[in-house]
Amino acid sequence: MNVDCHFHVDETMLTLEKMIEGMNKHNVSKTALIAPMNETMFEVDSTFQHNLQSFFRFLILNAPQIGLKIYDGLVKDGYFKLYGNSYKIFTKPNNDIVVAAIDRFPDRFLGWVAVNPLIPESVEDVEVYLNKPGFIGVKAHPFMHGYSMEVLDPVAAMCESKGIPMIIHLSSEPDSFKYLPEKYPKLKVIYAHAGLPFWKKLWKFVKDQPNVFVDTSSDYLNPSIVKKVVEALGYRKVLYGCDGPYGMKKFNEYDYSVKKSWIESLQIPDNQKEYILGKNFLGLIN
Ligand SMILES: [Zn+2]
Repeated sequence: MNVDCHFHVDETMLTLEKMIEGMNKHNVSKTALIAPMNETMFEVDSTFQHNLQSFFRFLILNAPQIGLKIYDGLVKDGYFKLYGNSYKIFTKPNNDIVVAAIDRFPDRFLGWVAVNPLIPESVEDVEVYLNKPGFIGVKAHPFMHGYSMEVLDPVAAMCESKGIPMIIHLSSEPDSFKYLPEKYPKLKVIYAHAGLPFWKKLWKFVKDQPNVFVDTSSDYLNPSIVKKVVEALGYRKVLYGCDGPYGMKKFNEYDYSVKKSWIESLQIPDNQKEYILGKNFLGLIN
């Protein structure tokens, strides 16, 4: 069973019906949804952008001190800045959108509770959502919401005690990927986008952490990075995800084949691909 562990709901970009259609066509049984983090964000297709993205990947891999500076520049004053455009970041994630999506397609969608720990009552909010059908864990975005990992202490302690995973998109705070696993060794952590913006350094750390994983979602990655992360961590620590609808160029035209082909084209046995495509994630949420 293939399960996408990382996708956002934003029907201004991609309707739930179209998602189900794409999932059916590409044999994805379930998708774990996250509230939108920012306003509608279509991208234009250009060679310039494509080259910029490749250059950014190269820097993060090979000259992280420069790559991290560029990364930091992507978020400023509550806006996400991409290729000269600015998109408002939502301070308070709208988890009700995910509740409604699960309500409409309970067999196909799971939910992450997106949390911004800078909002005082957020731990209580999180628990309310976790008791709703289909919710499996907590999403935190220290990069877009701009905070240091210690701010996640109460949420992380709660998730550890409940045995549920957290999925985290890291900021460039130095060594921030070590904080939660060292303080909450039983906490299940998934670092989004193969652990962006740390990649190699993070993989070295994650390799020996029994409860830490990465996902392969988003256009921050490409087939070569996915290959590298699987080589570095092995197939049991890597989870398939898309991070759609981000990266889309046109309304309702999301190409589900791309991220899945990154896994399918790996030179590993099919049964190992099955773990990446779903079994690892299902193991974390059972
Ligand atoms: Zn995401």
